[in-house]
Amino acid sequence: MGGSIIILLGAPGAGKGTQAKRLSAATGLAHISTGDLFRENQTQGTPLGLEAKGYMEKGALVPDDLVLRMLFDRVERADTREGYVLDGFPRTEPQAVALTAALERKGAACPLVVQLDLDDRTIIERAAGRLICKSCGNIQHLSFSPPRAPGICDVCGGELHQRKDDQPDVVRERVAVYHRQTAPLVAYYARQGVLTTVDGSREPDDVFQELLALVQPSRVRGED
Ligand code: AMP
Repeated sequence: MGGSIIILLGAPGAGKGTQAKRLSAATGLAHISTGDLFRENQTQGTPLGLEAKGYMEKGALVPDDLVLRMLFDRVERADTREGYVLDGFPRTEPQAVALTAALERKGAACPLVVQLDLDDRTIIERAAGRLICKSCGNIQHLSFSPPRAPGICDVCGGELHQRKDDQPDVVRERVAVYHRQTAPLVAYYARQGVLTTVDGSREPDDVFQELLALVQPSRVRGED
């Protein structure tokens, strides 16, 4: 669980997934999305997937004990040796406290926490048009990065679909949950002196350049 640990904090639609994928490709750090892990478990029909499903469809958070067990299992895999980018974790104070304690136990370095800041109207607009590739996980958007052919992923030609929890009423609930349960983590990490805030409303390329500059330059592929 050592190496560089980057936590992307932000509301649904703030760009965590898009940026985490790009950061991972540029630095070689593993990309760990707890949302993706739950969706994979659902596709495979595991007990964890089934348990998480009801919460996710409502836009609620999955209980901390399930998330933590899954996350701590995942970070033990060999691809995390150099570090990892966390996307969608932690989402509650108990999750953040458990992560801090685990990192301290391992003598790991402090994580770099980046808040992708975005206003609620833009969050809802972004999530409502979001399209995900069923094959490669590429993220596009009906208005902001429209597919060249309708319904077809620009990267791999796979089928694009809308996540069930990106329906407007579920997105509104997820945004409310974000403010109630996740936003307090901004203060939690600010108190630890490890928080940086980035304006998430800009073009994805601009946000990415800023993120890359924050991550140790030596981590960028081709420079080490
Ligand atoms: P995401 O793909 O990150 O938007 O996550 C989709 C859904 O998975 C969330 O709305 C939650 O229901 C669940 N989820 C993902 N990560 C967490 C987490 N760290 N804690 C609790 N629930 C989570």
